[in-house]
Amino acid sequence: MKKVKRSRPSRRKSTTRRTKSRRIQRKSLRRKTLKSSSKRKSQPSKRRAVRVVRPPQQVFLVIDMLNDFVQSGAPLEVSGARIIIPRLAERMAAARTKQIPIIYICDQHQPDDVEFRVWPPHAVGGTRGSQVIDALTPQLRDQTVTKTTYSGFFKTKLDVVLEKIGAEHLIITGVCTNICVLYTAVDALMRGYTIDVPEDSVAALTPDDHRFGMRQLREVLKPVQS
Ligand SMILES: [Zn+2]
Repeated sequence: MKKVKRSRPSRRKSTTRRTKSRRIQRKSLRRKTLKSSSKRKSQPSKRRAVRVVRPPQQVFLVIDMLNDFVQSGAPLEVSGARIIIPRLAERMAAARTKQIPIIYICDQHQPDDVEFRVWPPHAVGGTRGSQVIDALTPQLRDQTVTKTTYSGFFKTKLDVVLEKIGAEHLIITGVCTNICVLYTAVDALMRGYTIDVPEDSVAALTPDDHRFGMRQLREVLKPVQS
């Protein structure tokens, strides 16, 4: 009898413990459920969070709008270059308002440059012909990069200047559509920049050359409108 009496309370004790432990388990389970449900509830708000998309850093390039390419009777006169001046000036003014950096890319040759085997002498360093036309005179914040051949990137400081700015998208303007504009655009694309070549702000020696250049740009390089 004694043995039984002793054993009963001990069994009760263990039952109570088990019940308690079950209660604790249930509580912790409820807490877990609450936590996970609150997690589930918080997920949609995460999805709703507005992600701010920063527009790509644009840079405006003006190629060879120099006296020796633009002026009437100049050694490499691009008559179409004079037609694009008003629209190009508007675009540059808009770029300055939006604080888009402007870089002038300017031909600058030695008097005996090898390029003169192909083209008549032009843009010789230090001459008036190598200067930007008065209508588009560079302003204080603008930068100038000189080049000796068709691409604005070949053996120039353009890479470094663009890197400092953090450039991602290049708006390429000036002359000639099928030569310096096209070769600079090709090199820009190879370097991972997106490009835009607004047709009203580029010109070539002949309308055919201009059409050829624009077709190459559109079909091969796939410009992105700024
Ligand atoms: Zn040249």
